[in-house]
Amino acid sequence: MRVGVLGDIHSNLVALEAVLRSLGPVDQLWCLGDVVGYGPNPNECVARIREVADLCIAGNHDWAALGKIDISDFNPDAAAAARWTAAQLTEESRAFLLARPLMVETSVDGHTVTVTHGSPREPIWEYLLTAAAAAENFEYFSTPLCFVGHTHIASFFSWDEARRRPTAQPARPGLQLQLVPGVRLIANPGSVGQPRDRDPRAAYLVYETNGHTLTWHRVAYDIAETQARMREAGLPPRLAERLNYGL
Ligand code: ZN
Repeated sequence: MRVGVLGDIHSNLVALEAVLRSLGPVDQLWCLGDVVGYGPNPNECVARIREVADLCIAGNHDWAALGKIDISDFNPDAAAAARWTAAQLTEESRAFLLARPLMVETSVDGHTVTVTHGSPREPIWEYLLTAAAAAENFEYFSTPLCFVGHTHIASFFSWDEARRRPTAQPARPGLQLQLVPGVRLIANPGSVGQPRDRDPRAAYLVYETNGHTLTWHRVAYDIAETQARMREAGLPPRLAERLNYGL
C-alpha cells in the first residue's frame, strides 16, 4: 500500500494542491497537523484535508486558532496570524479541528505506525531536532515507525536497538530509506505550506508498505500566488516574504 504523509500545511492551499497533484493516487493519506495558521486559506485547507485525509492530528497552530492554547509565547507575526485565522474559521472548520487527536497508532497492511505532530513525548509542543531528544522520545512509543511534523524540516531519527544509538539526519529530496528490523525510525516529511529547511518547495513523503520504504519529495508551487492572497488578507508581510527562502 502507498501512504502519503504530509503536514504543516498552514493554510497554504496553493502548496497543498501542488502536493496532492504530485503525490498522485494513494491508498491512505495521513496529515500530521497544523492545517491552519500563517497562511491565507484556512477553511479551504480544512475542507480539502477533510475530503482527502484518512487521518489528521492536531497541531499547535490548530489549537491556537481554536483558542485552546495561550498565544502569548507566539512571536508577534504568528500571534497576529493566529488571531486572523480564529476570526476566519467557520463552525464546520472549528468542529473538524476540535475533534483532532494528539497522537494515534494506526495500522496499514499489517504494520502499526505512530502518528503525531511534535513528538511522542510532547505531541503538541516538542520540536524534535537532535539525536539526544530523539533517543528519549523512542521510549514514548512502541511501534517501529513514527511520523512527526512541527519543525518544518524534512528529517529522520533512528534508534538501533542492538547498539542503543540514536542518529539525526536531514532528508534530502529523493532520499529513500528502507525500514529494517531492529532499527526504529521517527520520520518528518517537512512542511507543505511553510518549509524552514532552506528549500522553499512544498514537502511530503511516501510510505510504501510493500518493500517498507520511505521516500522524501519536494514540489515547486506558485509561491507568488500564496503571497498575493496573504497581502490581500492583510497578514504580516514577513510571513509572506519568508516563503521565498524556505525559512
Ligand atoms: Zn507547523
